[in-house]
Amino acid sequence: MSSVKVRFAPSPTGFLHVGSARTALFNWLFARHEGGKFYIRIEDTDRERSKDEFLDEILSSLKALGLEWDGELVFQSKRTDYYRQTAEKLIQKGLAYTDGPAILFRMPKTGKVVFEDLLHGAIEFDLEAHPSLAEDLVIFKSDGSPTYNFAVVCDDADMGITHVIRGDDHISNTPKQLPLYEALSFKKPVFCHIPLILGPDRSRLSKRHGATSIRDYLAEGFLPEAVVNYLTLLGWSPGNNEEILSREALVKKFELKRVLKTGAVFSREKLEWMNGQYVRKLPLAELTDKLIPYLQNCGYDKLAGDRAWLEKLVSLFQERVFRLARFPELAAFFFEEVVIPSGEGLEELKRDNRLKNCFLKYADLLESIPDSQFETKIIEEKSRLLMKELGMSGKEFIHPSRVALTGRTVSPGFFDTVYLLGKRKAADRLRRITKLI
Ligand code: GLU
Repeated sequence: MSSVKVRFAPSPTGFLHVGSARTALFNWLFARHEGGKFYIRIEDTDRERSKDEFLDEILSSLKALGLEWDGELVFQSKRTDYYRQTAEKLIQKGLAYTDGPAILFRMPKTGKVVFEDLLHGAIEFDLEAHPSLAEDLVIFKSDGSPTYNFAVVCDDADMGITHVIRGDDHISNTPKQLPLYEALSFKKPVFCHIPLILGPDRSRLSKRHGATSIRDYLAEGFLPEAVVNYLTLLGWSPGNNEEILSREALVKKFELKRVLKTGAVFSREKLEWMNGQYVRKLPLAELTDKLIPYLQNCGYDKLAGDRAWLEKLVSLFQERVFRLARFPELAAFFFEEVVIPSGEGLEELKRDNRLKNCFLKYADLLESIPDSQFETKIIEEKSRLLMKELGMSGKEFIHPSRVALTGRTVSPGFFDTVYLLGKRKAADRLRRITKLI
């Protein structure tokens, strides 16, 4: 059995950020790859800023991404006694002292703090060159709560964490934490500081760059598997050009050593592309199930009740949907009662004076097809006969008919579109447009 133990230590002061999610993911992948344990520790010592709402969201986002944790959640807010006892030990050894209600740790004043980062190699801090590092460290604040640097060391040691995998932004905390390990004779973990996720301007990814919480991406219809695949490749590579990797493949191939040392730029376009790849692979029934809530949100739930019809519709769009929330908009003309072409589409229809007659005839033709025969193939055959009769080419007929039926110049396959619109809606739209051209 592997002895690897890692933890993800979110502070419940905001929703799960894309960057934190990737930290969680790298910890999870490493643990699963090594057959070790992945724990979650809730760093909720800041009672003012910590909110249950954030905690619930962080946990549900982690679950949605499939980052299941081992054991029970550890809450720092419930461990004050342990931190206090540990601080007392330091006081007894003369390594810490009280200052009113606060407790301060005597930091070493000279020499170097050195550690070997798994990714960056040896990192050194010369205490004389960094006087602020040599300042005594508050470990208990005057309000009676432990500080981040102290609680983290106490917990990582107590939980037997073997590898601390966290964001680069914590590199500067490590030289404050290491002297505490020494003073308390705690076994030091391996440190691995992973680069931050950057926005397109190469500054740290933040709200200025668009959505940053996993919650928002999931709500927009990014599939958890695609998000996991994308975030893993954002800062790690399997060593070849493979881009679509299943969760199992990622677990199998993941190596901390291969994490990139420099920040990776988050690209929404790339994520959309990858999501599209996962949407293509979903079984039709599953994709349909996932799309229904988005349709309901737009009030399109009535028609969505016809399962066979809906699955056929979804199949027409499976190659075109990149994120699920876009589907109702792409397919709106199937759900709306009336569509009115506008702008250039309508102007085009006005230019060909054969179209009025063509649309009226086409409406009659569609209505004349018995329900039992109203299907793509027969619609196509009959439509082609009409084109011949009217002396129109496929292009001359189909393009304007598409505009009349969908209000758009692009749509999925024309005859499939007619079939799925249904006889009544199609005929009605064709007749209605003749009054406008
Ligand atoms: N609670 C810290 C954070 O949210 C975790 C730091 C650590 O992993 O040591 O950044």
